[in-house]
Amino acid sequence: MRNASPLLGRFRRANELTPTGLGKLTGLGCAIARWEKFYLNPFPSGQQLAALAVVVGVEAERLQEMLPPPGVGMKLEPIRLCAACYAQLPCHKIEWQFKGMQGCDRHGLRLLSECPNCGARFKVPALWVNGWCQRCFLKFKEMAKYQKKLTQ
Ligand SMILES: [Zn+2]
Ligand SMILES: [Zn+2]
Repeated sequence: MRNASPLLGRFRRANELTPTGLGKLTGLGCAIARWEKFYLNPFPSGQQLAALAVVVGVEAERLQEMLPPPGVGMKLEPIRLCAACYAQLPCHKIEWQFKGMQGCDRHGLRLLSECPNCGARFKVPALWVNGWCQRCFLKFKEMAKYQKKLTQ
C-alpha cells in the first residue's frame, strides 16, 4: 500500500516548502503537518483531498488510496519498519502503523520500532530522504537481519 506521508514530504522538498508552507498553499493550514505524522483524526475530508490534489498534481482518488481505510486505528508512535520490505521497495508502508499490526505477514518478521544498531527512533516517513538511520547511518535495508521472526 502506498502512503501519503512520503508523498507530501517529497513534494515539499521538491518545492522547498515547509509543512506550514504547503498548508498555506493548499488552504489546509496545519492539517498537512498532522497528516505527515499520521494524525488522521479528524479524517481528511473529500474537500480537503480535492484541495490537496490540485496543488500536488495527484488525483484525489489516488490520495484517498494512500490513506488508511476510515476506522482503522493508527499507531502514531513509534514509526515502524519492515526492513525486508524496504529492501524490495524503499517506501514506508502505512499498514506498519495500523494498531494491532504485530509484524510483516509477507516476510514473517516483527516490525522494527527503532534502529537495531543505535536505538534511535525512526523519523516520520515524510522525512525519510536517505533511507538510513539519521544517527548511525545504518541503511534501512540492512536492518532486515536484525528483525526477529514472528512467533505463531
Ligand atoms: Zn516485510
Ligand atoms: Zn542507528
